[in-house]
Amino acid sequence: MAKQDVIIVGAGLAGVSTAYALRERGHDVLVLDAHEGPALETSFANAGALTPSEPEPWNAPGVHWQLLASLPDPHSAMKLRLAPLPGLLPWGLKFLANSSRKRFEAASLANFALSRYSLGLTQRARDAHKLEFANLARGTMKVCRDARALEPAHQASQALADAGLRFEILDRAAVTAREPLLSDVANDLAGAIFYPDDESGDAHRFTVSLADVARQAGVRFEYNSPVSSLIDRAGRITGVRTPTEEIEADQVILTTGHATRGLLAPLGLHIPVRPVKGYSLSLDMSGLNQRPSLPVVDEALHAIVTPLGETLRIAGTAEFAGEDRTLRAERIDNLRQLLTRLYPALAEQLLPGEQKPWCGFRPMSADGRPFIGETRADGLWINTGHGHLGWTQAMGSAGLLAALLDGEPAPVPAAPFSAKRF
Ligand SMILES: Cc1cc2nc3c(=O)[nH]c(=O)nc-3n(C[C@H](O)[C@H](O)[C@H](O)COP(=O)(O)OP(=O)(O)OC[C@H]3O[C@@H](n4cnc5c(N)ncnc54)[C@H](O)[C@@H]3O)c2cc1C
Repeated sequence: MAKQDVIIVGAGLAGVSTAYALRERGHDVLVLDAHEGPALETSFANAGALTPSEPEPWNAPGVHWQLLASLPDPHSAMKLRLAPLPGLLPWGLKFLANSSRKRFEAASLANFALSRYSLGLTQRARDAHKLEFANLARGTMKVCRDARALEPAHQASQALADAGLRFEILDRAAVTAREPLLSDVANDLAGAIFYPDDESGDAHRFTVSLADVARQAGVRFEYNSPVSSLIDRAGRITGVRTPTEEIEADQVILTTGHATRGLLAPLGLHIPVRPVKGYSLSLDMSGLNQRPSLPVVDEALHAIVTPLGETLRIAGTAEFAGEDRTLRAERIDNLRQLLTRLYPALAEQLLPGEQKPWCGFRPMSADGRPFIGETRADGLWINTGHGHLGWTQAMGSAGLLAALLDGEPAPVPAAPFSAKRF
């Protein structure tokens, strides 16, 4: 096989966006993925929220108390499991060490800049290629049941106001004016924050459509092609090995999500990214006369209800369970309960119908920021570790990596995302 300019391993949101960005710049790109198509791993059925308004890492100050409290509680929004704990320990200690107020605020600002830039590129690609992915540009609403929760959420948004975050505090009347379907539960809510610039859409449909655009522009995709190792010639990465062949390239980019760690470890590169499991439940709402008009985030439950065309998706929760793919009934039950607590009438109509439960592994970095750029091994780049922001930041991370690879000025500050910081 002819030598490639660039090989990208992984065809999820990160990989396909990166392929698209590099092809736009004229690179000759080959994408390899172990699955039979794009976005079949974590990018398959996420919550669909494009939310620059949610840049805060999940290791917020006080997270250790939350994790400890979760041990005996099967329904806790953030759930730590004991069995995988030994394997999680070094990463977990870094995760806790990064939960200081100062680091948390710095990571939030850096993520906000990347997310905003990313949303602009997502809109540009949508408009340029007429991509259909049940996109809504109606903002998101974060509801709080308790006035004590509204205040910190307000403060967190205020901290980003100077950086450009727009938001509006809503009282109960304003909540139901914006989303009339919440009127049944308005009395249970203390209020909400509305973020007018957020959007939403089906990440799987977006990735499939963008892969198609990239393919038509000349990117080659090889599916059912698991990469078993990287070719290392005296510290320079010169290609990849699959079970059937070796493929050489000038540059290799790993967009392999939570699996990146396994490909880097034989090179002595130990990336602090671990899987944090999340769940979603998709319901068919094609028969409904009245549908939710925008995504609603339930702050306390780390969960969100998003209308995605004919589908209503309830998603969220964080489970520190290693690579255990079990779809736990109680976690899916949490999502059903969330729907019932937000939209009781809808729950009554939709829950007797078909339910599609799913779980996926967010590639979560210990310091709450993704890794984007060249690693300490020459010729080897990574674009991963986006945690709960992988859809929001996909196009921007790709744009940043492409600029760095071409030796151009970074479109957003690149240092917080350096791939040499571990
Ligand atoms: C429940 C849930 C809700 C979420 N909600 C949101 C949201 O609302 N908004 C948001 O911004 N983000 C959200 N996220 C996060 C987002 O979905 C992820 O960050 C994102 O999908 C990660 O994309 P990725 O391309 O890095 O990884 P993946 O989608 O996992 O893609 C990695 C690809 O690499 C391939 N691969 C791995 N190893 C190899 C190998 N050795 N050889 C070949 N191929 C390989 C895999 O097959 C896979 O296709 C959510 C996540 C979950 C779980």
